[in-house]
Amino acid sequence: MTGYLEVICGSMFSGKSEELIRRMRRHIIARRRAVIVKPSIDTRYDRDRVFSHDGNSLAARSIDPAVPEAIDELAWAEGSQVVGIDEAQFFAEGIVEVVEKLVRRGLRVLVAGLDMDFAGRPFGPMPTLMALADDVTKLKAICARCGEPATFNQRLINGQPARRGDPIVLVGGKETYEARCRRCHEVAP
Ligand code: ZN
Repeated sequence: MTGYLEVICGSMFSGKSEELIRRMRRHIIARRRAVIVKPSIDTRYDRDRVFSHDGNSLAARSIDPAVPEAIDELAWAEGSQVVGIDEAQFFAEGIVEVVEKLVRRGLRVLVAGLDMDFAGRPFGPMPTLMALADDVTKLKAICARCGEPATFNQRLINGQPARRGDPIVLVGGKETYEARCRRCHEVAP
């Protein structure tokens, strides 16, 4: 196989994990040796699976996001031909070098992740991975306010729009997220 990098990006609730699972299933049906990884901080449902919001799932390996080199080691050890990476925005910048290495070696790499954080800023290694990709798919959710296509992540802390300076990981307080369009997206000053 020729190395190939595809990126599936978009906001929360846009179906990124669902699309990653759909594409990975096709490789599995084609009997290619495939492995899916995700950062170990994503404990939403299960440490050993990737889930979409509609309940679909595939087995996945949890990797420390600070050590993306572990993805390369895993791919070597498993003799992988296809590597799927979910929630890629949480990995350290070193993931860019790892992905380039895998693609140069002829692997097919599928990356899914948030392209923007709650304040609409490019998120972690995603913009670089999108630039390097052979193919980029940007999925849209539906705005929770007005029903238009949504590309932004609305972060609410105790029901109020989060401030730009609020830490990405909140300690205490109740936070929720919803998809919003550009017009309805709010960031408190
Ligand atoms: Zn809207």
